[in-house]
Amino acid sequence: VKYNEEMAQRKKLFNEVQEAKGNIRVFCRCRPLSKVEISTRCSTVVDFDAAKDGCLGILSNGSTKKSFRFDRVYTPIDDQVDVFADASPMAISVLDGYNVCIFAYGQTGTGKTFTMEGTDQNRGVNYRTLELLFKISKERSETFAYDISVSVLEVYNEQIRDLLATGPTSKRLEIKQTSEGSHHVPGVLEAKVDSISEVWNVLQAGSNARAVGSNNINEHSSRSHCMLCIMVRAKNLMNGECTKSKLWLVDLAGSERLARTDVQGERLKEAQNINRSLSALGDVISALAAKSSHIPYRNSKLTHLLQDSLGGDSKTLMFVQISPSDQDVGETLSSLNFATRVRGVELGPVKKQI
Ligand code: ADP
Repeated sequence: VKYNEEMAQRKKLFNEVQEAKGNIRVFCRCRPLSKVEISTRCSTVVDFDAAKDGCLGILSNGSTKKSFRFDRVYTPIDDQVDVFADASPMAISVLDGYNVCIFAYGQTGTGKTFTMEGTDQNRGVNYRTLELLFKISKERSETFAYDISVSVLEVYNEQIRDLLATGPTSKRLEIKQTSEGSHHVPGVLEAKVDSISEVWNVLQAGSNARAVGSNNINEHSSRSHCMLCIMVRAKNLMNGECTKSKLWLVDLAGSERLARTDVQGERLKEAQNINRSLSALGDVISALAAKSSHIPYRNSKLTHLLQDSLGGDSKTLMFVQISPSDQDVGETLSSLNFATRVRGVELGPVKKQI
């Protein structure tokens, strides 16, 4: 009984804080200058003087400075631990029955995969989240029985692919709605994971499967959305109540605008599909922030898949990833403008567009 009271208190507190701040957070992360950028004397256009207050400035055309404000700003020296410390409260609320969506947005090469997947030595949000979910579920094992499973999907050219499936997968995967109104993809493999030691292999298998059938893995990855879904089934051992919730962790396709003149055929189709899904995502989140009566989830496979974890009482966290280099300033400004729109700061004009 004491535990249930504590739990109710914690949820109430969490909701009060969430309500005050809204359910959408935007964190901005800037990668370091690369070796090549340093050797070719690229300069940094990002001013981090007020990063602690969530502000950053971008110097464009040599002198004009444009300022942006987000919930957090990470400088190139902030590491995976710093980032996860801020992201983890949202991620672990999936254990309390919330649906959550965390995604990384930005130009190719700005660190989306670094933030979400990370590297073997420097693991990112995906692995750290699962690690913490196992730790907490163990701590709560006297009161809750948790069942955790993962799926890894890729959306490329508006088609869904199951990255954990082995063998030939000619079957077209489609999104279906269940009788309770939640969305799922019948036939997709859900790997039940019981311990953190199993997780890295499952995540790597998903990541490696992206290369299959493509000539250039880097190019392919930058044009597809990689989506990890963590499903949590919880049984309250005190009252027998069961809940089911989903956490989506998404490494989006690169947001760069392609030069119109040299894009044709398959590349043009890819570019149009990326544009379509990223702008659909922006439209959905800003419609949610504006409390619009119609939320256009069905405009892309990406938003349709994420539907249960965007809106209602679910929680959304966007990482807007940027490059510090003067060579990328156009793309950087465009990503920061997108993120500002998502954060719902410009509610007036956004509301009119939808
Ligand atoms: P994206 O997924 O956006 O295309 P990547 O995650 O592949 O970008 O990052 C591009 C390169 O920059 C990689 O070599 C990655 O390790 C490095 N990188 C990105 N962000 C950071 C960071 N915060 N600290 C150190 N290296 C980073």
